[in-house]
Order: sequence, then C-alpha cells, then structure tokens
Amino acid sequence: MKWEENVRKAVPYVAGEQPGRPNVIKLNTNECPYPPAPGVARLAAQMNCDNLRLYPNSKGEGLVEALAEYYHVKPEQVFVGVGSDDVLAMAFMTFFHSGKPILFPDVTYSFYDVWADLFRIPYRTCALDHEWHICPEDYRQPNGGVVFPNPNAPTGLMESLENVEAIIQANEDVVVIVDEAYVDFGGTSALPLLEKYDNLLIVQTFSKSRAMAGLRIGFCIGNEKLIGYLNDVKFSFNSYTMNLPAQLLGVEAVRDDAYFRETTGKIIATRERVKGELKKLGFSFPDSSANFIFASHAKIPAEQIFRALREADIYVRYWNKPRISNSLRITIGTDEEMDRLLEFLQKYVKTTKNGEM
Ligand SMILES: *Cc1c(COP(=O)(O)O)cnc(C)c1O
Repeated sequence: MKWEENVRKAVPYVAGEQPGRPNVIKLNTNECPYPPAPGVARLAAQMNCDNLRLYPNSKGEGLVEALAEYYHVKPEQVFVGVGSDDVLAMAFMTFFHSGKPILFPDVTYSFYDVWADLFRIPYRTCALDHEWHICPEDYRQPNGGVVFPNPNAPTGLMESLENVEAIIQANEDVVVIVDEAYVDFGGTSALPLLEKYDNLLIVQTFSKSRAMAGLRIGFCIGNEKLIGYLNDVKFSFNSYTMNLPAQLLGVEAVRDDAYFRETTGKIIATRERVKGELKKLGFSFPDSSANFIFASHAKIPAEQIFRALREADIYVRYWNKPRISNSLRITIGTDEEMDRLLEFLQKYVKTTKNGEM
C-alpha cells in the first residue's frame, strides 16, 4: 500500500510478560512484592469520583510539591509524568536534539535505543567492562547527550558517585540523564550533584520501590531551566498526562516514609540472602544494588533454566541478545516466593547435573 511509505516506522520495546494467571511467581518485571503504602488504599477507598468530571492539575502540582519537600529541592526543579518511561521519552525529545549521537552503555535499559530510533536521534553505545562496569573515559568523546541507569539494568551494578560526577563533568555542554529507577534499593543518588551541575537530570519512578507500577508515576529532578524546557515540550504534546487519582495517591506514597523504608529494607535483606543461596547453587552475578539479580549458572545455559522455571510457573526475565544471553534477571520477591524459586533451582540443578533432566 502506497500510504505505508509515509508511516513513521518504529520497532517497539518488548516488556516482560504479564501472565495474568493466579499462583504464578512473578519475578520478571521488577515490581514490588509488597502493596503500596496503607494511606494509598485508604485514600482510594474514599476518593470522590465527582471530581473526575474535571481536568486534573496539568503540572501535577500537589505531587510535585510533595516530592520537592521530600527531596529538599524547589517545586520548579521537579517534573512528573506517566511513569518514568513517559518522563524519559519527554527528556529524549527535549534534550537530545543536536543531531550528534547520544551515548549510553551497550548493556542497559532496552528502551533507550527504542526512543532514540523513534525520535530519529543518532546514538552510539559504550561497552561495559569485563565486570559489567561503566567506563567513564568512554563518555569523553563528542556527543549529543548521555543517559545511563544507576544502578544499571539489567546488571544491578551501581557506579560510584565519583564516576557519575566524572561523566557529568566531562559533558557540561550536553544534558546527562541519570536514570535512578533502582536507587532506593541501596544505590547512591546523584541528587547532591544538582548544586554543582545544571546539565544533570535525575529520573526516578514509583513503579519499583514505591510499589505503584499500576498507577504509572515517574518524575525527574533537575535545574529549574531544564525543567522549564521539559514543561514547554510536554505542554506542546499533551497537557494532561497524569490522571487525578495518580496525582492524589502518589502523594500518599511519598508521605509515608516509614513504610517506604520498611519495604525497601525487606527487599534488600531478601536480596542479600538470595545472593548467598544462588552462589551455593553455582550461580554467579554482578553484586546487585537493585531489586533484582542478574545471574548465570556455571554449567546450565540460562535459556534452559528460564524455560524450566516457566514451566513451573516461575517467571524470570531472559533476553536472547549478544553478551547477556547466558544470564537471567531475577526480581526479588517476598521471602516465600524466593524460597519457592530456590527450592525449584536446588532440585533442578542437582538433577540436570546428573543428566536426568
Ligand atoms: C522500570 C524502569 C523504568 C521505567 O519505569 P516506569 O514504570 O515507566 O516508571 C525506567 N528505567 C529503568 C532502568 C527501569 O528499569
């Protein structure tokens, strides 16, 4: 068909499966295994639906103010969106407009190249070193912007604040986006660097550490001027991105810091325990500071384990991609869920070694 020539072609991002059956152990999309803060359910139960007649606050001001207070920044430094994917997409569109290639790691969040292709932004990837670390020197070449997660995904590895700063410092002519989707599980945030660098944009999400993937809330913090440009693009695209319930319920999650610390603390403790158990079973992995472990087995190919787990209704994430095709990304669930995973793996590793399969 002739009209197809004029279509914007895109190769979409592939998200982890949502099986939608009961009794599945779902460790494949880094969701939180615990419910959102109790105040979220409380407010949801008494929500006044009459207010849904009206458009929501277009800047999400209530949520912006709660986040500004929590992170000790000005409201003018905060931008909220429909998950951090929305925030990142807006940021790509706004800041990566030079025509020069943007830089990101070769093994990283697989949405970056999708947005780059969609927005026709050229890009170049920089190889992680043999221990899966980012090499700051790679980010000294001419470029149109930089983006990387810290901790990185799917490795879970954290980079030191010195290395993050080295990258920002070497790139003061472009915007550097640090995607901190997993920072609440023991990472070090680049937030203190905001005082020194006006080219830094820090993106975070409520989907993982705040247990609200279903509501779609993401945000970023940066210099007022950066946030201003981001708002100009957002208001040229869709003024009312965030719905009213998300704005109101998001505030409840931010306000309950005790619950936030309790649940992220539990996930960290479970992660550390699971690391020890996986090692005993012959798995190795980069030392994760996130809510997942990127593990490969000494003897059994990752794809084979992935299929066996899936048949046992335990979902983890596997990519048949260069460099990472022998690793599984295993989300940290509850202790009970992880025990079921470990129990399965114990039997599986033993029988597979014996050639019984
Ligand atoms: C999960 C994730 C996101 C996006 O999460 P949202 O649900 O859209 O907030 C962004 N970056 C990384 C690295 C992620 O893992």
